[in-house]
Amino acid sequence: MSDYDLVVKGGTVVIPYLGARKSDIGVRAGKIAAIAENIPKEKAEKIVNAAGKHVFPGAVDSHFHIGIYRPFKEDATSESTSSVSGGVTTIVTYFRPGKNYLNKTGPYKELLPELLDLSTGSYLTDYGYHLTMNTEAQIREMEWLVREGGCSTFKYYMFYKLLNLAGSSADGTNYLMTDTPVDFGFLYKYMKEVSRLDEMFRDYGRIALSIHCENPEVIRATNAEVIERPSGNPLKDYSDARPPWQEELAIHEVAIMANHTNCPVNLLHLSSQKAVEAGVEVSTRYPHLSFLLEGTLHHLGLSNDMNLGQLAKVNPPIRSQSDVEYLWKSVLDDTIKTVVSDHACVTKDIKKGDLWTSLPGFGGTSLMFPILITEGFHKRNLALHRIAEVSSANPARVHNLYPKKGALMVGSDADLAVVDIEQEKEVTLDRLFTAQDFSPEQGMKLKGWAECTILRGRIIFENGKVVGKPGYGEYIKRPVKLHYKD
Ligand SMILES: [Zn+2]
Repeated sequence: MSDYDLVVKGGTVVIPYLGARKSDIGVRAGKIAAIAENIPKEKAEKIVNAAGKHVFPGAVDSHFHIGIYRPFKEDATSESTSSVSGGVTTIVTYFRPGKNYLNKTGPYKELLPELLDLSTGSYLTDYGYHLTMNTEAQIREMEWLVREGGCSTFKYYMFYKLLNLAGSSADGTNYLMTDTPVDFGFLYKYMKEVSRLDEMFRDYGRIALSIHCENPEVIRATNAEVIERPSGNPLKDYSDARPPWQEELAIHEVAIMANHTNCPVNLLHLSSQKAVEAGVEVSTRYPHLSFLLEGTLHHLGLSNDMNLGQLAKVNPPIRSQSDVEYLWKSVLDDTIKTVVSDHACVTKDIKKGDLWTSLPGFGGTSLMFPILITEGFHKRNLALHRIAEVSSANPARVHNLYPKKGALMVGSDADLAVVDIEQEKEVTLDRLFTAQDFSPEQGMKLKGWAECTILRGRIIFENGKVVGKPGYGEYIKRPVKLHYKD
């Protein structure tokens, strides 16, 4: 009998917070069992040759939208396939009651089991859920969701407050399927409950509210101005229609409420210099509060002077090149702690309509390492161990998956991405393994492609082929310290 089920041999192992060392990794029963200078070949049942390659902890893509526009099971399979092709081994994905997703609302005691049922057998990666509460009855279920359901992060979308204040959305339907306006009064109650639970579960993790910070009242006015005088560049227009200063305003509004309720907040997908500066300012003003500043691959990798067209419409919008540079500076100086895809699979057909009516969002999960390594490591000197932090260790820590996920330590899940940091390849649709029929990054030449992806000791992607199967992925209850003994 061999000592190890699998040994990843001869690679340079990239350890978060430490650095890169040439080492072998031995895996037993799905967990890392040894990290050593040399593990003899005969001790291994199977070898992955990582010579000349870098071995990262599998990425934890902590902002995702499985099932938002497409049938849930189908989307979970196709888009988690896209993830594994890029070295992502865990997805933490957002779910919201109302239109899109499952097209229904109700108590989470019914919604969560349905969600988990649909998930079973569908994912190739491990996965968890961040959940949106749209009613006060749902808010009262949050303690149960943490204790029993394994969901420890919640979400609030500021730009839905107008929609429901009016009682209906622009298309005349009740988008969130709720009678409660999700206004600041609702947010106040929501934050109080998150804060109470954060206190209650303090020994196990950080219970937090993820917030999409954009101000809908301002957008209503700025949108109308731009529609009157379009410039001809759709992405520039879209950015002007939702200007950075309304993100700044929204962050300050949220911070005052978070301070009053003592609520930990994740400031999602910061797109601009103004948004990051606001995040830094409120973190400094309220040092006792916990703010996470999150960045996305598309705000780091794309700018609105690239002539990408309206398919790259996303909220918040793609900004100017100077905003992009400021975001990179903020990743480099550790202000932005996590980098995510905000992956929402959309086809051209689903995205039809003009700039103002077409659906926002697109996918990019498989480009996690290529963008961080090309734009971060090669172009801007972002250290490789910092890439392991923003893509894996930090999201695992703030979202209560650590050290099961996000760590290269004995006893952690053997989730690994073997990456070639030098070989350049063009972004083509067949390299992305997604159901999406376009990519804003298509045609770009990037380095940092995954050669092999390993989930709990099992190879799921190798030599350009996805070899994992739907159902390899497991639901991870969070906080892991509350739900798992070892
Ligand atoms: Zn999102």
